[in-house]
Amino acid sequence: GPALLFVKTSQGKEEGRRFYACSACRDRKDCNFFQWEDEKVSETRLAAREEYNRNHQPSFTHRQNVDRYKNFVLLPLSKRRFCQECQQLLLPAEWEKHSDHQFLCNITTAQLKSPSQLLYPLENKKTNAQYLFADRSCKFLLDLLIDLGFRRVLSVGTPRLHEMIQSKASQEEEFSVKSLLLDIDFRYSQFYTEDEFCHYNMFNHHFFGGEAARETCRKFLYEEDGERVIMVTDPPFGGLVEALASSFKKLMAMWSETEKEGHDNKEMPMFWIFPYFFESRILDFFPSFSMMDYQVDYDNHALYKHGKTGRRQSPVRIFTNLTPSMIVLPEEEGYRFCTVCQRYVSSGNQHCEMCNSCTSKDGRRWKHCVLCKKCVKPSWFHCSNCNCCTLEKHSCEKSDVGCFVCGKAGHKRSACPSLSHT
Ligand code: SAH
Ligand code: ZN
Ligand code: ZN
Ligand code: ZN
Ligand code: ZN
Repeated sequence: GPALLFVKTSQGKEEGRRFYACSACRDRKDCNFFQWEDEKVSETRLAAREEYNRNHQPSFTHRQNVDRYKNFVLLPLSKRRFCQECQQLLLPAEWEKHSDHQFLCNITTAQLKSPSQLLYPLENKKTNAQYLFADRSCKFLLDLLIDLGFRRVLSVGTPRLHEMIQSKASQEEEFSVKSLLLDIDFRYSQFYTEDEFCHYNMFNHHFFGGEAARETCRKFLYEEDGERVIMVTDPPFGGLVEALASSFKKLMAMWSETEKEGHDNKEMPMFWIFPYFFESRILDFFPSFSMMDYQVDYDNHALYKHGKTGRRQSPVRIFTNLTPSMIVLPEEEGYRFCTVCQRYVSSGNQHCEMCNSCTSKDGRRWKHCVLCKKCVKPSWFHCSNCNCCTLEKHSCEKSDVGCFVCGKAGHKRSACPSLSHT
C-alpha cells in the first residue's frame, strides 16, 4: 500500500528534506523503497518498481487459499501435510515440489483451528514483530470483553485472540462472540475465509483486498442485533505511534459511520496493547484513553513473561477509552481496587497522598520526590545539579544535550512536543 512521508532532520533545524519510505517495514533490508518527495521518477524506474511488486505477490490469492483449505479438510489425516519451509498447507499434487522441504504430517482439525501454533512466529523486530499472547493473558482479555458485554471483536494484529474466539465459537454452542482479524501476515489467509480475515496494513490503513475487504470490515462494525463491537490491537512496539493512531482513527470513523445517529458522539471502544513508556504518546493522540495496570504476557518473548520476584515483569499494558473502573483485574494475581483512583492497580502500586493517585507505571512501588513534586522510579535519586530525579549514576552535563529535533533539554527526540503536532 501507500508509502509514508518521513522527514530527515538534523540537530536544531526544524526543516528537513522529506522522503517516502515503506510504511510496514522499518528496516531497509526488508523493503528498500525510498524516494525523495520532490524527486522526478523516470518511466523506467516506475516500470521496474511495478515489475518488482508483481513478482513479489503471494503465490495464491486469498480466494484460492480458501478453496485449497476446503480441499485440504476433505483429505484423510495421513494426507494432510504442512510445509514448514513454505509455511503452507500442501495438497497431495504439490508434495513433489516440496520433497526436500521439512514438513509436518497428520495435521489435525485442532491444529487447523490454532494456526498461530502451526505457523512459526515472524519475530523479525523491524517488520512483523510477532509476539503471541500467553494463554493466561489471552483468556483474561477474552473473559474481560465478554463480561463487558461485547459480542464482536475487531482483532487488529491479534491473531491469537482471534483464534481463541473462532475455535470457541465452533466448539461451544452458546458462545456467541464473533471476530474479524485484520493483519499483515498473509499466511493466515490459508485458515480463514474473507469474512474472518482481511489482509491489512495498520500503518497506512490499507486493505490489500480492496473495496470488498473494506466492505467486510464496515459490515462487521455495524452493530446488528445490538451486538456491541470492541477493537483490540497489539501492534509491533517499534511502530510509529502517529501512523498507528491515524489508522485507528480511520477504523473508529468507519464504526461511527455505520450508525446514522453517530453513536451519540461516542468513540468505538478500544483496547490498544502497548508498552507503558508510550503512555504520553498515546494520550497525545487519544486523550480519552487511560492506561491499565494489567501486565500482558507473551509466549515467545523471554523478557515479557509474568513474574513476581527475580523475573522481569512485562512492560506491556492495555490502553482503553472505556471507564477504568469497569476494567476488573484478577485479584488472584495481586491486583486490587483503589477506591480513590477508581481503578484496579497492581499490588506494588501504592496510592500516593501527595500526587493523589496510584503513580507506579512499572508495577514496582514508586517514591514521591517533594522537589520534583511527583513520584519517581524507586531506583532514582534527586540530583540538585540537574534539578530533577534521575539514576544515581549519570553525568550531569549529559542531560543538557537537548532534543535532536528541537534542541531543547528535557526530552528525547521520540517525545518531542514539536513532532506530535505535525
Ligand atoms: N499478541 C498478539 C500478536 C501481536 S504481534 C497475539 O497473540 O494475537 C503483532 C501482530 O501485528 C502480528 O500478528 C503481526 O503479523 C501484525 N503486524 C505487524 N505489522 C503489521 C502491519 N503493518 N499491519 C497489520 N498487522 C501487522
Ligand atoms: Zn515447501
Ligand atoms: Zn490510587
Ligand atoms: Zn507522589
Ligand atoms: Zn526529584
